[in-house]
Amino acid sequence: MKIAIIGAGVGGSIMARGLADVPGVEVHCLERIAPGDHAEAGTGLNLGPNAVQALLATDPDLARRIEAASFAWSSWRVSTMGGQELMKLALKDIAPVEGWRLRWAELYRVLREAAGARIRYSCDITAVTPKTDGTGRVDIAFTEAGVARTLDDVDLLIAADGRFSQLRAQFHGPINARQVGVGIFRLLVPNTSGGLIEDYEQWFNGPARLLGYRVPEDSIYMSGTFPIPVGAEIPEEMKTREGLRRIFTPADGILGEQGRWLVDLITDPTVDLHWARLQESPLCLRETGVNILYLGDSSNGMVPTLGQGATQAIESSCAALEVIRALSAAGQYDTELWLETITRARQDRLRFVMDFSMEASDTLLAGGDPISGTAKKTEPPFQAKLSQLYNDFGVPDGLLQEA
Ligand SMILES: Cc1cc2nc3c(=O)[nH]c(=O)nc-3n(C[C@H](O)[C@H](O)[C@H](O)COP(=O)(O)OP(=O)(O)OC[C@H]3O[C@@H](n4cnc5c(N)ncnc54)[C@H](O)[C@@H]3O)c2cc1C
Repeated sequence: MKIAIIGAGVGGSIMARGLADVPGVEVHCLERIAPGDHAEAGTGLNLGPNAVQALLATDPDLARRIEAASFAWSSWRVSTMGGQELMKLALKDIAPVEGWRLRWAELYRVLREAAGARIRYSCDITAVTPKTDGTGRVDIAFTEAGVARTLDDVDLLIAADGRFSQLRAQFHGPINARQVGVGIFRLLVPNTSGGLIEDYEQWFNGPARLLGYRVPEDSIYMSGTFPIPVGAEIPEEMKTREGLRRIFTPADGILGEQGRWLVDLITDPTVDLHWARLQESPLCLRETGVNILYLGDSSNGMVPTLGQGATQAIESSCAALEVIRALSAAGQYDTELWLETITRARQDRLRFVMDFSMEASDTLLAGGDPISGTAKKTEPPFQAKLSQLYNDFGVPDGLLQEA
């Protein structure tokens, strides 16, 4: 069974490592960047307890390596920019393990190192052509460090090429992401907070929200969001230092101690802010007629409100590996069966996570009220969903036996 993975990001790297141990499988992971060129260096990530649990169950050695590059994500605190605490959750009260917080670039480094030589860098895909023999296989033409190469008769193609997936656009048509009407910026800077910022926290001024936490090696990751008209570009005025100060300062002008430090930071002219808009792509796990599995953001680009993008790429990879290991151990090497079982394992779970992430974005939208919205997040219905989010990570019971 020949498997090609396009993209060595979060999902692709985990699959490249995990598939290498499956008997009868030959795996090639083609990544377009050069070795050591870790994209998204300017971002931090929090990975949920569900990602940690999934990795501990599937690849405990990899879990230990990520943990070594991370700080524990133990709590989730919400307050106003003025300093009034609205919520404080201990993750240990909801899940048996805590989450991780680390630099995105570090996560890539650890995952790519762990996948080793299975990842081929500096690869540009020039064509993916389905075979005409009805097998669903594909031929791939690409260049590797400028040298033309081919990978023919690929039984399974895993599209792990991220939110703007070239493969999904080719085989499934334009992604048509849905804009939700929220502008977002992010930054990663050395920690000069003097202990003010540590674990995961959010601060609201109306629906405008800052989020921040400390990551190794003593840096602060922060992001800020505020409502914009749905579908519109972020108004230039809101990107100015004056605009940002206005958006995040309460009407009475009084900022708490953390709020003052945060607003000074985001309005510091020497600090680089990276801008984007919150959006969600329609869920799509596989192709029919051609053997393509979409994995991670290429399948489920979601709003980042609950920090589930990379977390779900990890969960999906672990679930796909569990399915493939079980089916191959039972002598089943039927690509259609693999695709069908992985899709059944992930479809409802991903739908739930995407919908819950959108639901939790209520306080970020125009007219959102952080006081009542956060109070709702402390009540049993939201807490039950949070428990489902952090704990229901595996392949559903009975699915592998049925397959
Ligand atoms: C600002 C921001 C903050 C975020 N915060 C969090 C968070 O706190 N927690 C969380 O869980 N998630 C977070 N996410 C989401 C998370 O980073 C993504 O969901 C995650 O990286 C998706 O993993 P992936 O494997 O699908 O794709 P990616 O990690 O994006 O990897 C895709 C890979 O494919 C490669 N590639 C793309 N096209 C090609 C091609 N044609 N040929 C070869 N290679 C190709 C790319 O170079 C890349 O290496 C955040 C995202 C953003 C933008």
